[in-house]
Amino acid sequence: MPSGSVAGHASRPGDHGRLRAALSFATRLVARMASMTYRVTLIPGDGIGPELAEATRRVLEASGVEFDWEVMDAGEAVMAKEGTPLPQSVLDSILRNKVAIKGPITTPVGVGFRSVNVALRQTLGLYANLRPVRSIPGLKTRYDDVDLVIVRENTEDLYAGIEHMVGPDAAESIKIITRAASERIARFAFEYAVANGRRKVTAVHKANIMKFSDGLFLESCRTIAAQYEGRIAFEDRIVDNMCMQLVQKPELYDVLVLPNLYGDIVSDLCAGLVGGLGVAPGANIGPEAAVFEAVHGSAPKYAGQNKANPTALMLSGVLLLRHIGQQAAAQRVEDAIRAVIAEGRSTTYDLGGSAGTREFADAIVARLDSVATTA
Ligand code: NAD
Repeated sequence: MPSGSVAGHASRPGDHGRLRAALSFATRLVARMASMTYRVTLIPGDGIGPELAEATRRVLEASGVEFDWEVMDAGEAVMAKEGTPLPQSVLDSILRNKVAIKGPITTPVGVGFRSVNVALRQTLGLYANLRPVRSIPGLKTRYDDVDLVIVRENTEDLYAGIEHMVGPDAAESIKIITRAASERIARFAFEYAVANGRRKVTAVHKANIMKFSDGLFLESCRTIAAQYEGRIAFEDRIVDNMCMQLVQKPELYDVLVLPNLYGDIVSDLCAGLVGGLGVAPGANIGPEAAVFEAVHGSAPKYAGQNKANPTALMLSGVLLLRHIGQQAAAQRVEDAIRAVIAEGRSTTYDLGGSAGTREFADAIVARLDSVATTA
């Protein structure tokens, strides 16, 4: 090879220096990524939240990725102390760190403060709620091969919170659907489909009845679908029919995109297809930040009993690892969770076992540690 060339190609003076600088930059970048510490906001939440958050923290740390947790409280306890269930300091922490993981937070039914979960999504502009639903081998359910992704619009619809009494005996809730938010969530669904090798997006609506609001959602999805023609297939379903189809033939569907309320309801239905709320993870994603949380709520009746299943929050942690670019660690954690469930010796009550939250986490940490020492 002539001197001054790289891989046999003639080079100009100065190329060598630039190449060396680029290689050294790449080496430093890889080294930095390998040893990087990620500052992440951790919100333990209410009810079963703190136990699940602790189990998830241990498992994420056992993945080999370094975390510096900024623990922030929100929900019932803070309400009593600070007069708001969602202090500004929590929002500031998430905006600073860009990434958060949170346990569920209780919302009083009918009375009391508005949902912290909804407020968090709206205030931080976390417009996309991503909820993958996948069968876990060894977990006995009615179906073996469910592999769906729910993309729920997170900021408007009936969750905009615009409601009032009309006189003493009537109430009105206003459903907001905008073209901008509908096109944005549809684009998110199609981009997700492209990036993750998915084949089809199904828009879910009730446009036959709500011709303006759901009609606009559907029209927006069609506009975006046209831009992906030939790459990702598109179809739509009326929400009631969709529910029946999901129960009868879930394998026909791939990525679903829904307005906020239908997305909420269909998420729980789909969780039921793969083993229940204990195994359904989620992510709320926006341009400024991402908050990872399970689909389920705070299940107050199980609070403090070392009983609830941490899988959903742990799998939300897997989504977090993917989001920060730690693909290999994400895969290790996901494989470890699936392996422990498949073995069936250390699972929680809802999966047919008798292990506690902590013991389940112990089994996953032990598995990750053994992979680390044999690798
Ligand atoms: P929930 O999801 O808390 O619980 C429903 C039932 O599902 C539980 O009673 C339990 O049987 C089962 N379950 C849920 N999570 C489980 C787990 N990890 N392991 C084992 N079993 C589990 O729903 P809910 O009772 O309707 O709501 C309770 C509270 O949570 C309410 O205040 C609600 O507003 C709130 N909530 C919060 C969020 C959130 O923080 N994102 C989401 C939904 C509900």
